[in-house]
Amino acid sequence: MTSKPSPFAGPLEIALRSALSHLGGLDHQPTAASATLSQLRARLAKPLNDSGISPEVVITDLVRDVQGGLLGSAGGRFFAWAIGGSVPAALAADWLTSAWDQNAALFACGPSAAIAEEVAGEWLKDLLGLPTSASFAFVSGCQMAHVCCLAAARHALLLERGWNVERQGLCGAPPLRILASNRHGSVERAVRLLGLGEGNVLDLDLDRNERVTASVLRTALETAPGTATVVLLQAGDLNTGAFDDYREVIPIAKGHGAWVHVDGAFGLWAGASPHFRNLLDGVADADSWATDGHKWLNVPYDSGYAFIARPAVHRAAMSHRAPYLVHDQDARDQIDWNPEWSRRARGFGTYAAIRQLGRAGIADMIDRCCGHAATIVEGIGQLPGTEVLWRPQINQGLVRFLDPRAGATDADHDRFTGAVIQSVLEDSDVFFAGTTWRGRRAMRVSVLNWQTSDRDADTAIAAIGRCLTAQQAKVATSPGTSF
Ligand SMILES: *Cc1c(COP(=O)(O)O)cnc(C)c1O
Repeated sequence: MTSKPSPFAGPLEIALRSALSHLGGLDHQPTAASATLSQLRARLAKPLNDSGISPEVVITDLVRDVQGGLLGSAGGRFFAWAIGGSVPAALAADWLTSAWDQNAALFACGPSAAIAEEVAGEWLKDLLGLPTSASFAFVSGCQMAHVCCLAAARHALLLERGWNVERQGLCGAPPLRILASNRHGSVERAVRLLGLGEGNVLDLDLDRNERVTASVLRTALETAPGTATVVLLQAGDLNTGAFDDYREVIPIAKGHGAWVHVDGAFGLWAGASPHFRNLLDGVADADSWATDGHKWLNVPYDSGYAFIARPAVHRAAMSHRAPYLVHDQDARDQIDWNPEWSRRARGFGTYAAIRQLGRAGIADMIDRCCGHAATIVEGIGQLPGTEVLWRPQINQGLVRFLDPRAGATDADHDRFTGAVIQSVLEDSDVFFAGTTWRGRRAMRVSVLNWQTSDRDADTAIAAIGRCLTAQQAKVATSPGTSF
């Protein structure tokens, strides 16, 4: 009797070949998309088929149709936003996560998934220098880590005021405010999802180093004292990578009964490097921390982590019991800590990334990214007609390109900066994105990929130089204000 060929073999083999070809091409393929919106729609928006199609054909078509619409974000020449790639073991574990298809809601539904997560959670606290007694949740990203942490904060702060938010909801609840330094938009989104209201997120002024000062925080806390308050601090601002002074401000917040939450989407990873750890001095005294695996740890997407200093509070905000669920007394059921019910066994990717790199490998990856960010910003700063707005303290810097015409205004420099970024994207050797910082347009230099090399940093400087020179020449010969 001959055994039947596996129906999975064909599509998975095509997927493996295509993935290797994509990853192998990252070093020399364009980093930007070349296909347009309408081209991608024309290719992908096929009529909904009535009958089935062989999986080999489906996957072959998919690989063909997405061509030109994939950014080079998995590779080393991508410096926009805060992206990061995937280390090989994490990518392979992520594939297996899909193949194993465990429902990582409960130990009973996926015993190995629960234990891999349990182990990786302990490793993460160790690497990041967080309290070993903290609880954790593996969520889809830093935004959902905010949701998880702020749900715990909401529970604790309102319970202290005699209100059980899980039972009573928010109608008629005591007011709750969030005092925040610089923040990523995911904070507002988390606040909205929790029904806390964006309008209750209040800005704290920052000093010239982008930090909340003791006096600003004290004044804010002393306005309406006794109000349930979350103080939201930064570990790695999205533009500058700036860190708050935790030693100074956390005790003030705590002294006023506030819950301190730290957004460390990528910056918390500075804690994994002996060279940068000092930037996080005192951060372990916060109440909750949110970070990502899919950014600086280089795990594939769908990987964020929430940590909460008081496990009982975390559990009270998340856990659920139903008669048909099977709970193991000794095991860690993810449903007690996570906002989702059915979920991907996302702990495997993190587990594999940490084992592949080890403590030293992670520290080295952090250090190398910071080194490349410094090299790129320095290199760009030496080109004529550039201004360095922020020298990297970790892996984030800001530069600006100056309109060369006599009498050019800030608005001209803004436009010129935008034009240079656009031409870098068209050049496509490297990928950068813009931002507005302190009212001025700038280009962000953001390095998080384990593959970025010295050569990639040189390529980036050369590409910027080439595009800048071309734009300068174009503006010099253009009479009007637009270019
Ligand atoms: C990316 C980022 C977030 C949001 O993280 P997601 O993983 O995209 O949800 C939050 N804060 C900062 C500082 C970030 O850079």
